[in-house]
Amino acid sequence: MMTDSSLYAARVPIFPRRVSGRFRTLKWAIMIVTLGIYYVTPWIRWDRGPALPDQAVLVDLANRRFYFFWIEIWSHEFYFVAGLLIMAGLGLFLFTSALGRVWCGYACPQTVWTDLFLVVERWIEGDRNARLRLHEAPWSARKLRLRASKWAAWLLISVATGGAWVFYFTDAPTLLRDLLTVSAHPAAYTTIAILTATTFVFGGFMREQVCIYMCPWPRIQGAMMEEDTLTVAYRDWRGEPRGKGLRRRQAEEAQAAITRAAGPQIGGRAPAIPMPGLSGARSGAARQDGPGDCIDCNACVNVCPMGIDIRDGQQLACITCALCIDACDEVMAKIGKPRGLIGYLALSDAPREAAGGRPRGAWAHVFRPRNVLYFSLWAAIGMALVFALFIRPEIEMTVAPVRNPTFVTLSDGTIRNTYDIRLRNKHGEPRAFRLSLTSGSVLAIALEGTEDLVTEIPANAQKLQRVYVSARPGGPAAARAETALRFWAEDLASGDRAHKDSVFNGRED
Ligand code: SF4
Ligand code: SF4
Repeated sequence: MMTDSSLYAARVPIFPRRVSGRFRTLKWAIMIVTLGIYYVTPWIRWDRGPALPDQAVLVDLANRRFYFFWIEIWSHEFYFVAGLLIMAGLGLFLFTSALGRVWCGYACPQTVWTDLFLVVERWIEGDRNARLRLHEAPWSARKLRLRASKWAAWLLISVATGGAWVFYFTDAPTLLRDLLTVSAHPAAYTTIAILTATTFVFGGFMREQVCIYMCPWPRIQGAMMEEDTLTVAYRDWRGEPRGKGLRRRQAEEAQAAITRAAGPQIGGRAPAIPMPGLSGARSGAARQDGPGDCIDCNACVNVCPMGIDIRDGQQLACITCALCIDACDEVMAKIGKPRGLIGYLALSDAPREAAGGRPRGAWAHVFRPRNVLYFSLWAAIGMALVFALFIRPEIEMTVAPVRNPTFVTLSDGTIRNTYDIRLRNKHGEPRAFRLSLTSGSVLAIALEGTEDLVTEIPANAQKLQRVYVSARPGGPAAARAETALRFWAEDLASGDRAHKDSVFNGRED
């Protein structure tokens, strides 16, 4: 049956009010640190010698290398990157299981850049009330000027964001000069353009829509959170019934003052989508008979960047940024009530708290078997990576026997095998390696392209050296199907040696 109702709902803009408090301060600090790391890192120099790049952090796609300060990862060592990615995943699992969506609320790029864009928006257009009025106002010269200024500032931030990203992939000062002289590779301009557009749109216009509708992470996190997870919650047994009863007058006065400061609540409130696995809404604990501490001032809603009401219970849209905690604590201080009507709380503690008991300490929630398991896996992989980093051989050599054919018989009856030996020189200067072999049988070694047994490898490069091993006619190695042998490579400068085992194939009579 056809109905007139539409499944589409246009976005209602959200104008979060400025708030101050301990969590806001923490968010400022994290924002400054994360943005500082992102923008500054490509400009840190690190001397690696004349043949190697002097950028501390560099993803050198052309040469398939990754430089991170003193660590250099070659493409064949990709397991380090894989290990770091697994660690990052486990770290997210650990934090989500212990503290809910702290990643989303404090450090996710979408949150950090949206926060930055909001700072600009407030700076140009004013706080919530002023922005609401501007939004409602018809287009005028003033509105056009404010909007144009805001969009221009957002665009500058977006270009800087896209620009900073490409600096990670090539020498930053050189690329900056090329970009300014319009002589950089087209890929650089394309990347900057794409990242500029996504930053501008995601941070300026889509904001909470990215978190609610585009990002799959909230759904995944819902499966990782449980009732022992500490997360932002409203103590409904303390807050309800709202603003009623004996303190109505006091509540109404406080509410009027705060509402005047906060401005009216217009429709920018997201629907309350319950967080899967966490029973959806409120604690369900018993409410008190008298009036609750919540004066229904909407301060917690007005500061929320997601436009939700935490009093509806835990919701998929809540990124646990804790700004509603700061807002409500401010209100509680004004009406002379204890802080913490909204606070970090585990739902498993709600009945105990509602009955007048003390909640378990934060550590009891953090040190749970699941979190210990996540941390143990995370630490084990981290230690394995550090160990692997320190035992990396100075000389890296691989040996690949050429098996088509396995051997050739020369005119004098000599049996010859061919091998491809790959040597890597990870140093900033050319190196010479002498190749040799040891075996239980008499075998001779020769190098293609050189009379002696020394092969030169340019700085920071690898070389494939073809090697021939021969057994004299009638000797034991020539007559045996397989003879074990060991190739040696000696660095003539340092005297360091490396070896790889292989086999020599003879004619089995
Ligand atoms: S800020 Fe606190 S008092 Fe005000 S509506 Fe929210 S929960 Fe109630
Ligand atoms: S309800 Fe809003 S302000 Fe409160 S933690 Fe969730 S996203 Fe942040």
